[in-house]
Amino acid sequence: MFDLIIIGGGPAGVTAGIYASRQKLNTLLIAKGFGGQVAKKAVAIENYPGFKKISGQDLVKKFEDHLRKQKVEIKIDEVEKIEKINNNFLVVTKSKKEFQAKTIIVASGADPRLLEVLGEKEFIGKGLSYCAICDGVLFADKIVAVIGGGDAGFESAIFLSNYVKKIYILEYGSEVKADKTNQEIVKKTKKAEIITNAALKEIRGGEFVESVVYEDRGTEEEKILPVEGIFVEIGTQPATSFVKDLVEFNEKDEIKVEFETYQTKTTGLFAVGDVNVGQYKQIITACGEGAKAALAAYGYLKRTQ
Ligand SMILES: Cc1cc2nc3c(=O)[nH]c(=O)nc-3n(C[C@H](O)[C@H](O)[C@H](O)COP(=O)(O)OP(=O)(O)OC[C@H]3O[C@@H](n4cnc5c(N)ncnc54)[C@H](O)[C@@H]3O)c2cc1C
Repeated sequence: MFDLIIIGGGPAGVTAGIYASRQKLNTLLIAKGFGGQVAKKAVAIENYPGFKKISGQDLVKKFEDHLRKQKVEIKIDEVEKIEKINNNFLVVTKSKKEFQAKTIIVASGADPRLLEVLGEKEFIGKGLSYCAICDGVLFADKIVAVIGGGDAGFESAIFLSNYVKKIYILEYGSEVKADKTNQEIVKKTKKAEIITNAALKEIRGGEFVESVVYEDRGTEEEKILPVEGIFVEIGTQPATSFVKDLVEFNEKDEIKVEFETYQTKTTGLFAVGDVNVGQYKQIITACGEGAKAALAAYGYLKRTQ
């Protein structure tokens, strides 16, 4: 029986782990991997205090090293279900392991949103990627498309411009939403062509991606772009499937919490970082929430044991 199980190895989960260890809680952290969205960051981070400029991968390594110095048990696995049994929790993982704890911190963040068009499932890993930083290097001298004209899409395009020959940025709306700085950098690469009003219809190919089909929302014409790679950057979806029955959600599927302690509607179950209804989803805010929830879990255990 653990005092606390933390689910997630991103900024929120790692910080919760550090704080829980310092409160001497008997803690288990379960994560699919370390770093979460930070590990996939395509351009350097410039807004985390103490580092004027640091790559996502370097920051993740520092987070992981720091956590591994604490008294926290770590398991790389995926949580599939949490149940509340009397006053405790049962956590079941994909590898069919079961763990019990008196409190839980859900710090599972968010996964990339899917396109939900024809061909998507078929071409994942065959030219279709949700992570430019992970897969960009495989597309040297190729023509690729980035789906999504927000900051994530533009940052991916900036990263990809180091490798690829040409990038189409497809945006559903009538104008891109990326900030001006990102727009200027993309322009300077001279490799990007921005297509607005593009409603994605289908991904086509043989063994690998060969083209992307979209409808021009202005003319309602169907258009085909020959590309060998497609990078999806249309936002994220909170990762909450394993905790559905124990919490309440808002309309964006984010977990409702009480903002003093980050406790959900279930006593002893906390939710922090990008997975909850909080507005400002950043590395520093995720860390702050992880710290506060670990201290709140400690306070809860003190009151109830
Ligand atoms: C493209 C992009 C650029 C960004 N740039 C910046 C920036 O420059 N500065 C900044 O401050 N913020 C930036 N952000 C936001 C920042 O990355 C997030 O706010 C932050 O990572 C949220 O941390 P988190 O720990 O809540 O979740 P995440 O980072 O999403 O981590 C979630 C963790 O939970 C794990 N997990 C998920 N489901 C399960 C499960 N079922 N079982 C076990 N483990 C699970 C994952 O493997 C991961 O370890 C950016 C985000 C994106 C997408």
